[in-house]
Parts: sequence; structure tokens; C-alpha cells
Amino acid sequence: MNVALVRCWITGISVTLEEHRDRLTELDSVIGDGDHGVNLVRGFTRAALELGAAPRSDETVGGLLDFTGGVLISTVGGAAGPLYGSAFRAMGTALGDTAETDEARFAEALQAGLDVLQELGAADPGDKTMVDAYAPAVAAFRDTVLAHGGFLAAARAAAEAAETALDTTITLRARKGRASYLGLRTIGHQDPGAASTTLVFRALADTIG
Ligand code: ADP
Ligand code: MG
Ligand code: MG
Repeated sequence: MNVALVRCWITGISVTLEEHRDRLTELDSVIGDGDHGVNLVRGFTRAALELGAAPRSDETVGGLLDFTGGVLISTVGGAAGPLYGSAFRAMGTALGDTAETDEARFAEALQAGLDVLQELGAADPGDKTMVDAYAPAVAAFRDTVLAHGGFLAAARAAAEAAETALDTTITLRARKGRASYLGLRTIGHQDPGAASTTLVFRALADTIG
């Protein structure tokens, strides 16, 4: 992963979110307030535009991810803005000012993002949140790296794990965030945040591949 690939990743996320915006809106209309897709598209589009505009003074993998997190925090809003934003900032901090990073270091950065997400949102796996997609994705990425699978295989394993986990969120009852107010009525529907997290990991695999 290098600075060019970070730009591709963020642009790829903004494109896939735009493509799936209506589905995310529908999911969030059923168990939330319908703004998840629109809010995330706004944030990632802004981040991609600003990253594409000019080389930055913090032109490192960590610097660009940290910058992206800051844009998300200031433009996305809702529950997802601070959560995604803080996760990207934590990834950036974990990677520091390196121009290029290998898969082992990236696995640590993904874990740092997950740690912050859980510290901030206090959600555990099973609470029907983005953690339900993010946690298995991070585990699959790390396991593949430990098995010497390389960056691409790790990113693909992470995306697949997130996609499988997304289906599982249908069976879960929301225990965190706005959806938790609906209690048992959230069973039978995918979690919007887990759905967007799945797109973020699929975009990573497509960027590397
Ligand atoms: P809001 O509910 O404020 O409108 P969004 O619609 O942007 O925010 O995001 C909703 C998503 O945020 C949920 O589907 C869930 O995945 C995620 N979420 C909500 N609360 C938490 C939490 N405490 N921890 C982790 N994820 C959460
Ligand atoms: Mg919402
Ligand atoms: Mg909202």
C-alpha cells in the first residue's frame, strides 16, 4: 500500500457508495432514519476530491488516511461520521509517516481502527453494527497475512469475511445506536453500517487487485 493506492481506495469507496446509495438509504430507512448512504457519499466524495486536488504536505500513507478521517468527522455526521472518521484517523496514526506499507503493518492499522471504533461506540460483535462486518474482516486479513498470503489475498479474504458477516446481521437484534430503539423489529434486516463497511473492504480488495 502506498499513497497512490490510498487515493485509489478512497476514490473507490466513494464510487461504490454512490452506486449503493439507494440500497443503504433503504436499509437505514427500515431500521434507522434513512440518511446513512447520503451522509457517507458526501463524506467520502469530499475526501476523494480533496485528495485528488493536489499533493499534500502530509504525503504519506498514514497522513492521507488521517486526513480522510478528519474529513469524514467534519462532513458525515450522525453516528457513522465520528465512528468511520476516528477509525480512519487511527489507521493513519498506526501507519505513521511511511510512504509505503506492507500487509503486516496494514493489519495492525486495521486493528487500531477497530479498537477505536469499539472504544467510541461501545459495540461488541453481535450488537448489529458496523463492528459485525469490521471485526471479522480484520481477523480474516490478519489470518491471511500470518499464513503468508500477501496483501491482495488478505484484502480479498477481508472483503469475503465482511460480506458473509453482513448476511448474519439479518438475524441479529440491534443493541446500539438508533436502530436499538426498534428492538426486535430490527431482526430480518441487514445493518446499514455493516453494509457500508463491506463496501469499504471490497473497495480495498479491488484497489489492490
Ligand atoms: P444515524 O443513526 O445517526 O443516522 P448513520 O445512519 O449514519 O447514523 O449510521 C447508522 C449505522 O451506524 C448503524 O447501521 C450501525 O452500523 C452504526 N452504529 C450506530 N451506533 C453504533 C455504535 N455505538 N457502534 C458501532 N456502530 C454503530
Ligand atoms: Mg441514519
Ligand atoms: Mg441520522
